[in-house]
Amino acid sequence: MAELSAIRTFFTQAEIGLNTNQIRESVLPPMVPILIKIKIMTTAMAGWTAAAAPVPMPAQAIATIVNSEVAAPVAVSLYDENDHQTGTIAIWRDGAVDDATKAVVKKLFRCRKTFRQKMMAQKTLAMLADVSDHYPGKVIEYVSAYRSGGAESSTSPHRAGTALDFRIRGVQLRDIRDYVWKTYNDVGVGWYPQEQFVHIDTRPQIHNTAWTFVNGNNRYHPYWAETAKRQATGVAVAPHEHRAGS
Ligand SMILES: [Zn+2]
Repeated sequence: MAELSAIRTFFTQAEIGLNTNQIRESVLPPMVPILIKIKIMTTAMAGWTAAAAPVPMPAQAIATIVNSEVAAPVAVSLYDENDHQTGTIAIWRDGAVDDATKAVVKKLFRCRKTFRQKMMAQKTLAMLADVSDHYPGKVIEYVSAYRSGGAESSTSPHRAGTALDFRIRGVQLRDIRDYVWKTYNDVGVGWYPQEQFVHIDTRPQIHNTAWTFVNGNNRYHPYWAETAKRQATGVAVAPHEHRAGS
């Protein structure tokens, strides 16, 4: 695992000298397992370390490696709705982060009532990275993440550190909502049109759940959930038969 963390640190440094577009272009198709990419990177790094350490690696050389052989983490731009701060964190497509980023993630997504920290679930981070990558150049404006206050239900995904409430400026909420719902399984997706955010969480033990939150209530099985899934599968669904009085 030592090699692995070295690679992540390397990418953190590499990012400073590379613009985001270069990193994004280098991302391999999502079907390629991340472990294979890491192995390729390990080989490349071993060659470089032996040849050139401790001289800093030129940005040009880093770009060559990145563009030709290896996937990079997604640079996720965040805006903290509570603190009004912006920043960018690097998250791998499988939701992994390096140790330095882990500390940042815990702080950014801390409970705003108790100030307690909890690491966000890796699957949720993977989804966050994917959503960010799906809307290039956009900023994820998050409203709420980990919540540990007394008012938070014991079964709340926010208490479990698996949930994030957010919006993206310049993107329709319903677009984000539908994208997450049709792309992922084992998730909760809530649409909050009045509060202007989308809730996403990962729930490996529970089936998919969609809801719309209006006037203080969750409304389950919303129309949009069925529509989005139908679009995703391309399956034609026969119109419901309505009998008089039904
Ligand atoms: Zn939420």
